Amino acid sequence: MLVMGIETSCDETGVGLVRDGVLLGDALASSMDEHARFGGVVPEIAARAHLEALPSMVRHAVDRAGVQLSDVEAVAVTAGPGLASAVQVGLAAGKAFSLALGIPLYGVHHLAGHAAVDVLEHGPLPDRCVALIVSGGHTSLLVLRDLARDPIVHLGDTYDDAAGEAFDKVARLLGLPYPGGPAIDRVARDGDPAAIAFPRPLTGARDEPYAFSFSGLKTAVARWVERHPGPLPVADVAASFQEAVADTLSRKAVAACRAHGCGTLLLVGGVAANSRVRALTAQRCAAAGIALRVPSPRLCTDNGAMIAAVGDLVARAGLPPSPLDLAMQPTVTLTHALTHA
Ligand code: ATP
Ligand code: MG
Ligand code: FE
Repeated sequence: MLVMGIETSCDETGVGLVRDGVLLGDALASSMDEHARFGGVVPEIAARAHLEALPSMVRHAVDRAGVQLSDVEAVAVTAGPGLASAVQVGLAAGKAFSLALGIPLYGVHHLAGHAAVDVLEHGPLPDRCVALIVSGGHTSLLVLRDLARDPIVHLGDTYDDAAGEAFDKVARLLGLPYPGGPAIDRVARDGDPAAIAFPRPLTGARDEPYAFSFSGLKTAVARWVERHPGPLPVADVAASFQEAVADTLSRKAVAACRAHGCGTLLLVGGVAANSRVRALTAQRCAAAGIALRVPSPRLCTDNGAMIAAVGDLVARAGLPPSPLDLAMQPTVTLTHALTHA
């Protein structure tokens, strides 16, 4: 089945075309530059940019896939979570395609998309695995079974900031450009990850093993920067902060795999694009005999292919489509791949 996926939950306008687990083509536009001077995404600017970019992204994705719009057999769209005005644009477009082409609509949970995209590069997921979703708004350790059908079990989430949010806030403290994650990744290459011993949040023996908290780490960096006399060693601070995040994430993810008898870890979401997070997790998984699955960096951050990947899974599993009056859900928690389930 040929599925078109549409993603507009934040500042990326993504369209992807997937058939039976194969990515045929995709297109991506970002309004990132328009938000840079505000230091974060402005919802109304993002929504306007989606409206402007969506028609051409659909055209590009269809062309790149070598198909016709009339060949599309189902449309999948992010119905939440995300910025309400931004989600609304994609959802309206998805409903319009469903109606105009007479094809089923699937309202997809954005975070299920972050997980499902890995299937496009590495084939079907095992019957059971641990997933670590680390993105701009979420940090969750989960147990996944059949992603299309089964409920998703949360082992732990963040109590405060998401990992990506911490990257973005620390980058701002260091005077690095928005978005902060890629900027920290870049400057950290020239820094010493052992220069500053930043805290590893919630990793003590008596702490909750699978919960996260990054707000204290961000504050620790802020205090260090305030107290430091003279020119700031930006590369060392960035590398040391990045090391604290990578250490915390990988340690907890490997522990979760061990405790739950899962031989596979799925590392996904925007922060999974981070070079140190990838390297340290790979190293620890290898040492523990755990197979690590992580998408290519370009598929870790928001894109249309990830939403098409979910649509493809649920369509092939024979799940009922979403109703055409499906409501967007800006804050829906991840319990199922589809938001109306
Ligand atoms: P969510 O998926 O939780 O709704 P989002 O869609 O905004 O949030 P993603 O697109 O998954 O988030 O990821 C964006 C986040 O990933 C940003 O916080 C960004 O700084 C971070 N990020 C992207 N690349 C890197 C990198 N190389 N290193 C660290 N962080 C990164
Ligand atoms: Mg983005
Ligand atoms: Fe995302």
